[in-house]
Amino acid sequence: MENSKQLRTWLDDLKLDHPLVIAGPCSAETEEQVLKIAHELKDSDVSYYRAGIWKPRTRPGNFEGVGALGLKWLQKVKAETGLKTATEVANRAHVELALEHDIDLLWIGARSTVSPFIVQEIADALEGTDKIVLIKNPVNPDLALWLGAVERLASANIKKLGVIHRGFSTYEKSKYRNNPEWQLAIELQTKFPDLPLINDPSHITGRRDMVFDVCQTALDLNFDGLMIETHFDPDNAWSDAAQQITPSTLIQYTKDLKIRNESITEADYNSELQKLRAQIDVADNQLLETLGKRMKVAEAIGALKKEKNVAVLQSKRWNEILGKMVLDGEQHSLSEEFILKLFKAIHQESINHQKQILKG
Ligand code: PEP
Ligand code: MN
Repeated sequence: MENSKQLRTWLDDLKLDHPLVIAGPCSAETEEQVLKIAHELKDSDVSYYRAGIWKPRTRPGNFEGVGALGLKWLQKVKAETGLKTATEVANRAHVELALEHDIDLLWIGARSTVSPFIVQEIADALEGTDKIVLIKNPVNPDLALWLGAVERLASANIKKLGVIHRGFSTYEKSKYRNNPEWQLAIELQTKFPDLPLINDPSHITGRRDMVFDVCQTALDLNFDGLMIETHFDPDNAWSDAAQQITPSTLIQYTKDLKIRNESITEADYNSELQKLRAQIDVADNQLLETLGKRMKVAEAIGALKKEKNVAVLQSKRWNEILGKMVLDGEQHSLSEEFILKLFKAIHQESINHQKQILKG
């Protein structure tokens, strides 16, 4: 992506003194619903009003969106409130209809980003237009696949690009609906600092009580904006009911969230430090999660040893692990002394967990 600086011109041109906010319901349900939410968001920090018209549902039989009819409601939103409009497109027909109805911002959903054929079809259909296009991360944590989609749109001469971080599917259950894997978003931001990066706390958390904290983490990590699902009656929303917040909650959040100073020239020492600390917090949480997982595996081994009546401590295997860790540690600039101390502590904790199992 040459000239990546121009990718964010659209965002700079908005001249916002706060992060970009995109909000609105997961799905357009009725004309009244779409307009009521839009009017409640009219005098807020929201610049773009989102509503899904075609809904990609994981399993059939759920509400799959109102279809093209909803585009007319979005046109009314723009006429009545002045909010710009946004919707998800997943094929050429969607793009053509969205263009006909003068939708301002189109996004590509996580289930579409995984398919280069679909992304290419959308890119071809958009060629030559000046729409803003935001690309959600693919459902799987694959940075190359995400960037590949950005490149396909950049090659189709789409100048107003950005990405949305909505978290990643995992087989294991976690407290998130879609695991944030913040390190991936940070890597993308480091590689392409000019590509606007928007956070979608709604699809990351899947739960409205966690939305605020994820918003704050995103801002601490210097994200450019937020896309938040908003509904006047979240519990009765036709899709993603558990994660939507009311317009008044959203407005309160925009007041309570702390915005860190963005540009390095203006940024004082403290705000720079805050950002780095937020990255450390993310890394620390990952360490804890990984250690927790490791102990669970150790416990499973403990159960196996108990069944076969084998000793907990097997020093030959342990010495092999240590040797390998010292070598691997070197590649991450970690000293031998540190690796030995760290793994001794981890090993001791594992043994304690296994002993517990053998006793229990
Ligand atoms: C959505 O934004 O409503 C949506 C379907 O999101 P995702 O593609 O992230 O699942
Ligand atoms: Mn949704």
